[in-house]
Amino acid sequence: MFGKKKPVNNAAQPGAQAPKSAPQVQLPQIEFKPAAPSAQLQQGVLISCRASPQYGVAVMVIAHAINSRADQILFDFSAQGCAVRYRVDGLWERMPPMDRETGDGMLVVLKRLFILNPADRRSKQRGKLPTRFKSVDWVLHFTSEGIPSGERALVVIDTKKPVLNTLTDLGMREKLQEKYKELVNGNKAMFVFSGPAGHGLPTLWRIGLESADRFVRDFHCVFDEAMDEPEMINIANHKFNSAAGETPMSVLKSLLLKQPDALIMPDLFSTEIAQLLCDEIQKENRYAITRINANSAIEAILRLLATHRSAAKSILEVTCGAINLRLLRRLCPDCRQPFQPTPQLLQKLGIPPGRVNVLFQPFIPPPPEQRVDANGKPIEIPICRKCGGRGYFGRAAIFELLSINDEVRRAFLQNPTVDAILPVARQNGFLTLQEEGILAVATGMTSLQELQRVLSS
Ligand SMILES: [Zn+2]
Repeated sequence: MFGKKKPVNNAAQPGAQAPKSAPQVQLPQIEFKPAAPSAQLQQGVLISCRASPQYGVAVMVIAHAINSRADQILFDFSAQGCAVRYRVDGLWERMPPMDRETGDGMLVVLKRLFILNPADRRSKQRGKLPTRFKSVDWVLHFTSEGIPSGERALVVIDTKKPVLNTLTDLGMREKLQEKYKELVNGNKAMFVFSGPAGHGLPTLWRIGLESADRFVRDFHCVFDEAMDEPEMINIANHKFNSAAGETPMSVLKSLLLKQPDALIMPDLFSTEIAQLLCDEIQKENRYAITRINANSAIEAILRLLATHRSAAKSILEVTCGAINLRLLRRLCPDCRQPFQPTPQLLQKLGIPPGRVNVLFQPFIPPPPEQRVDANGKPIEIPICRKCGGRGYFGRAAIFELLSINDEVRRAFLQNPTVDAILPVARQNGFLTLQEEGILAVATGMTSLQELQRVLSS
């Protein structure tokens, strides 16, 4: 489950080298705001935490993780000590472990800061800690729980401001954006967002909907209160509370009385709703958008059809297209290494000769013990300041966009399998994730290794 990467040595790391007692070094300026009931109690929590010899360790881990662009920190406590991992751009990196005493002391500080019970090392505990660091507001979410080998604690680092906000941020090439907007701004049709679980579908949903034209048409979103859908500008939310016995059908029916242009359905909920939606699209010229977990755009449509069998014919008639994505890491623009691809490699990638002169690969410095010359003398290898020697900086995505015309529709009807539909889709201009990924490699956005990693997982 965790990356094989060696620790990245870009700055003073907390953990093994971290001071066990109150540190002499200047601690990073970080402001914790424990969620205590009053300002006085909050002050009390901070004073008691600062008095702990491991307060400095807790501060340094959190500051170092944020500086490393980690969005999660995982602590695994066992009899031997405390293993520390950061998740950076979706990959887990091993950090130097802590000894038991340091790790346990730090955990006590963390639990106090999150207003939890430090003595309880078995039950599941959750807490939230607003934090200010480097002029940015962060919210840290903490979970801990006893596991057979000891205890596991996870800190999720959240900012209110998402890093990726546009299709360009997400790495969608311009031509594909135009095609996507044509499909998503159509009418009398349904469009499908899809992606495998854990591969950025919620991000695509947010950015993709925000890129649709919500100012000309009115957008309405129907969802279960328990679904935790993001708030978006110019999209009216219509929630139902399934826990209280409310149904999506009742909310949808009263919404339809208002003659909405576009219906955003994070889930189709039932075949009855799917059929009603199709009827509304065809008879009332409405537009609908839904989403589903799937590994490809074709698979997404197949899954919708299989889930709502008796409405499948209608769904296929109204569906105009589907998009699917994979998240991948962007090559670090400061240290990526150009290389001349051999004609054989270009041929293998399907890139016509003369089209691309250089491709790029990440520069990953050897681990410290290998940074020596033939005589064993240490050699200085500068570590990239931007990416800290990871070779990658930030994330983007590759997309496949399936546009469904009558020919593709017939293929779905005749033989509803990916293998049978793919050649027909390709004849109609469809590029697979693999082909889109090679375009992303050719522009230097990512590396061949990264593309292979993402597509083989
Ligand atoms: Zn770099």
